Amino acid sequence: CGIVGYIGSNDTKEILLKGLEKLEYRGYDSAGIAVKNDDGVSVFKEKGRIADLRAIVDDSVSANIGIGHTRWATHGEPSQVNAHPHQSTTSRFTLVHNGVIENYAQLKREHLADVNLVSETDTEIIVQLIEKFVKEGLETEAAFAKALKELKGSYAIALLDNQNEDTIFVAKNKSPLLVGLGEDFNVVASDAMAMLQVTDEYVELMDKEMVIVTKESTTIKTLDGETVARDSYKAEIDA
Ligand code: GLU
Repeated sequence: CGIVGYIGSNDTKEILLKGLEKLEYRGYDSAGIAVKNDDGVSVFKEKGRIADLRAIVDDSVSANIGIGHTRWATHGEPSQVNAHPHQSTTSRFTLVHNGVIENYAQLKREHLADVNLVSETDTEIIVQLIEKFVKEGLETEAAFAKALKELKGSYAIALLDNQNEDTIFVAKNKSPLLVGLGEDFNVVASDAMAMLQVTDEYVELMDKEMVIVTKESTTIKTLDGETVARDSYKAEIDA
């Protein structure tokens, strides 16, 4: 399983699909991407191989922001509905997640009793929690941090907000995730291999950190909102 994300000036579909192909070695049962442009977010997801996903991605949709996922099912059978990305009820938020949320049933009971969930995944709880906290009045970044603080378990997460033009919100705990730096673009990936196609410069993330990624900047923060400084490194390319 794995995650990729891209925000920049080029069309993102092929970058995401190629990235997911590079993560195939990690094992998966389904795959999906979400891409965002001025018309909103389009989600394409399918059970099976990346080739099956490629076949349903609409070539006519062009977008400069996107996230992608290969799923290794832990909660809910491998299916189109359970494949990521998952969206909140209003479709404002779109999210991919690797890992396991151990307290998802409790979070569902405590916070989401009135929310109609469409999948059987632990992941959908996260995106619905974020929407709930935003409805209660928080800005997206604060709602994201608040939701992350509620989670027990492992996660690598990438989140798109329909009403936030140019940002990918990212977070990590006990699942691998890197930020990759480029000229006029930035990427995220579970493994540098996925994004060596566009950059060899990466920043490591620590557990319980989130990153605000735009095409010009990557800002690492603790879940309490303190900015963290960290140097980048060059990934070794081994053929
Ligand atoms: N627990 C999530 C699910 O079953 C994510 C699995 C993964 O890491 O791919 O959908």
